[in-house]
Amino acid sequence: MKIIGIGRNYGEHAKELNNPVPSQPIIFMKPDTALVKGNKPFFYPDFSSDVHHELEIVIKISRVGKNILEAFANRYFEELTVGIDFTARDIQQKSKEKGLPWETAKAFDHSAPVGTFVSKSDYPDVHQLNFGLMINDKQVQSGNTSGMIFTFEYLIAYASRFFTLQMGDLIFTGTPAGVGPVKPGDHLVADLEGKVLLDFEVK
Ligand code: ZN
Repeated sequence: MKIIGIGRNYGEHAKELNNPVPSQPIIFMKPDTALVKGNKPFFYPDFSSDVHHELEIVIKISRVGKNILEAFANRYFEELTVGIDFTARDIQQKSKEKGLPWETAKAFDHSAPVGTFVSKSDYPDVHQLNFGLMINDKQVQSGNTSGMIFTFEYLIAYASRFFTLQMGDLIFTGTPAGVGPVKPGDHLVADLEGKVLLDFEVK
């Protein structure tokens, strides 16, 4: 499986990092070694001193597709959850300044914890979902999927022009505002519509 990440998909987050709002999705990828399931701890890496949390809705691709039309894209995912797109902001900043790729900042081991998947049919409208992140019992991020610049369906259609989507592939759909650093000892709890789906510690 592969993990597709989307950069700057919420206007308020693009602004907080002084980035322009994109006219097309910004895509990066993480390997399967980035995935963390089952609320296992995140071990702080030794190559960064500024790892940030990015709380995101994660969708799971449920059938194979290439050049998917946006109008049919909703048939290609049945489940979603919350996840953290951990980002070594210090490395990413240097890469951006030099115009270099983001992989070492975004795709490192265990940089993609994901929560328990739930059926999208549990919700009347996936384009109106609240989600949030608490660190040590303090709310640090909250968003609503209505704030996405590019919808789930647009992202699926767009990504499938470049990459064949396969069952089990994940798309991290971008973070709302409020990103910030984590440190060993932090306890992260993320919810979707008030239901906790992800709960783990930084070690
Ligand atoms: Zn992200």
